[in-house]
Amino acid sequence: MPQLNAPETAAGQDSEPENRPGTGFSKRSLAAQAMGRIDPVTRAVVPPLHVSTTFLRDPDNAYSSGFSYARPDNATVREAESVIAMLEEAGAGAYLFGSGMAAATAVFTALEPGNHVVAPKLMYWGLRRWLREEAPRRALAVDFVDADDLGALRAAMRPGRTRLVWIETPGNPLWTITDIAAAADIAHAAGARLAVDSTAASPIHSRPLDLGADIVMHSATKILNGHSDVVAGVLAGARADAFWDRIGAIRANGGAILGPFEAYLLMRSLRTLPLRAAAQAAGALDLAERLKAHALVAGVLYPGLPDDPGHAVAARQMRGGFGYMLSIRVAGGEAAAIGTAARVRLWKRATSLGGVESLIEHRASVEGTGTPCPPDLLRLSTGIEDPADLYADLDAALRAAHAEAGRTPG
Ligand code: PLP
Repeated sequence: MPQLNAPETAAGQDSEPENRPGTGFSKRSLAAQAMGRIDPVTRAVVPPLHVSTTFLRDPDNAYSSGFSYARPDNATVREAESVIAMLEEAGAGAYLFGSGMAAATAVFTALEPGNHVVAPKLMYWGLRRWLREEAPRRALAVDFVDADDLGALRAAMRPGRTRLVWIETPGNPLWTITDIAAAADIAHAAGARLAVDSTAASPIHSRPLDLGADIVMHSATKILNGHSDVVAGVLAGARADAFWDRIGAIRANGGAILGPFEAYLLMRSLRTLPLRAAAQAAGALDLAERLKAHALVAGVLYPGLPDDPGHAVAARQMRGGFGYMLSIRVAGGEAAAIGTAARVRLWKRATSLGGVESLIEHRASVEGTGTPCPPDLLRLSTGIEDPADLYADLDAALRAAHAEAGRTPG
């Protein structure tokens, strides 16, 4: 078993050894107990929720607890961070933010004016928009490349000026795979860091830090929380260095830390993450295989399928599954795709991903002009329902939309 390298937490200051299970247990076991901390005062097995915004100063003017004010730090947030740091085996620990976007943009904000950034053409559209509209105002130069094409990635590097390579794998919403280890080599050779948006993989199926990445980011709104009731984001760092400290300072000074209630809910969800991620990835693979053979489906985009262009790399760098996200291209084009989404009964027609309830979305309608997303594409986020029910519901909707299109003149 790997030795855990979680950051020092409030609980880490417990004097009684039984207050933590220690090392030698699997991630699933440690996650199930949210690191197994026993509250030293009450001996509660569920950690208390710390809501205080301020803390008593010692008579000698020190803050011996390590806490002074809630904007820079919070004990409940630290507890949730320690679970994520354990899952990612993050040497520097983890920082939770109020959203995935707050976490991602903190990394770019930590760069210096004039720095060059390489980002993928295919990525979460909200961050692509931020990089297009906001990054130049901070004097960052951004080049967008097909990051799954390592030659293109290499060619985009400006040694000495490129300071950050950002990749997203699997990449939303086509689920393209980028070779993390190769991207890390390319970034490091040019003197840049590699950051990976691993939201669609989850820490259960991919560990970018182990493959050479410097920072891994998740929209914790997605499968980490998994119940569609918390907006959160997280960064986990390979090593504590000046850049990592600067991200921490940006969070503290800018007031971007996650609230304690959300951290508490997130920690409750993290206990079941290994089980949910395994079930959702198995469901996604099952659906991908069935939909591949469907007469009204023109294509299935899922790296778990052996003929997917990203499969070989995904099989090498992912473990235990290929994630919970897939997309289909509907025969009959945009109208048939929108018509299918309109007719599902079990799937929920809504944005976002990673929850226990399955979601379907006509993605091009959301992303608007300039999207690399084809108009016939439906994005599917697989939840924990019975995959046979999910398939039957989608099959009926595809058939009904197709029949309706046949009846519509012109
Ligand atoms: N990264 C990916 C892959 C996403 O899908 C999302 C949101 O959909 C984000 C980042 C942004 O996360 P948040 O909505 O928590 O700000």
